Amino acid sequence: MAKAPEEIIRDEIRALSAYHVPDGTGMVKLDAMENPYQLPSELRARLARLIEEAPLNRYPDPGAGALKARLRQTLGVPAGMELLLGNGSDELIQMLVLAGARPGAVVLGLEPSFTMFRMISTFVGARYVGVDLRENFALDAERVLAAIEQHKPGLIFIAYPNNPSGNLFDAGTIARAIEAAPGLVVIDEAYHPFAEKSFMVNLARHSNLLVMRTLSKLGLAGIRLGVLVGGGAWLAQLDKLRLPYNVNTLTQIIACEVLQHGQVLTEQAAAIKLERGRLLRELRSVAGVTTYPSDANFILFRISHAERVFDGLKQRGVLIKSLHGSHHLLADCLRVTVGTPDENAAFLAALTHTLNA
Ligand code: PMP
Repeated sequence: MAKAPEEIIRDEIRALSAYHVPDGTGMVKLDAMENPYQLPSELRARLARLIEEAPLNRYPDPGAGALKARLRQTLGVPAGMELLLGNGSDELIQMLVLAGARPGAVVLGLEPSFTMFRMISTFVGARYVGVDLRENFALDAERVLAAIEQHKPGLIFIAYPNNPSGNLFDAGTIARAIEAAPGLVVIDEAYHPFAEKSFMVNLARHSNLLVMRTLSKLGLAGIRLGVLVGGGAWLAQLDKLRLPYNVNTLTQIIACEVLQHGQVLTEQAAAIKLERGRLLRELRSVAGVTTYPSDANFILFRISHAERVFDGLKQRGVLIKSLHGSHHLLADCLRVTVGTPDENAAFLAALTHTLNA
């Protein structure tokens, strides 16, 4: 008789809870850091024509040459650096962890941060060590350097700006960590469109540094495209783990065309940043709310009975993210994505109603 899942599936996988994506149908959806704006209709019409002619009977361009050339320009990739593309940056994280997962290998991450660093390490059988941030979500230099010394991680992930806290860590402290690291350091710049700073320009200075970007937060979450930038010696090894044709034809065509008109997305990001300032000021004025500064397209805030507030918002048709219970530094914390002015107003109204109910 065939064996049951308990006998076949690894213990650490059975112990995981699946990455839960709630259904936001019909809701004001402010849970997933998406850009709330559609592309302009002329650009969408042009995409429709390109898709009509796309050779869908053929495999995609395996090297995605045209798209890489376009990305090189748009992202300002320094001369001499290479690019590796993924089906979202999630897939790039998976390739990185898989490549380094020799027995006893350690992946080091900061806590709280993007949960996929920990989850993918578990999938792959690597040992994940989480180093707590300070209470204000700043990087604790001494704690990080001590953890590097003790655990000698082959791979370190730093989200810059960080999710879910929204802040940029001190660049000097990150540089010290890169210099102290015995292995690779990946700076995950998923929220770069909403921050002024980047480690891209530091790539030439540190041979163990890689910078990761995504088009998801910029406005193309639906096409799934992540980009890893760094030295060719590292990327050539990682590329061996890439499944053939991981970036599909439609993604390549759409990304190429939209990036050629990249100004549209930059303008949308600027509007979101402006709205972030307004939302932050309004949230700050709500009694009982503590907000945290953000360089991303979302705001972390703390409020008593956060779970009840989250449920109250949901009942009123507004979906945000509750982080309560996910880490001790996030007790009573909620995270709201910056939406359109109307969506943000709906969120603030639902929050007021919930608190006065
Ligand atoms: N990195 C960070 C810090 C994120 O917050 C996210 C998504 N929430 C990702 C990576 C994954 O992005 P992608 O859509 O490119 O897989």
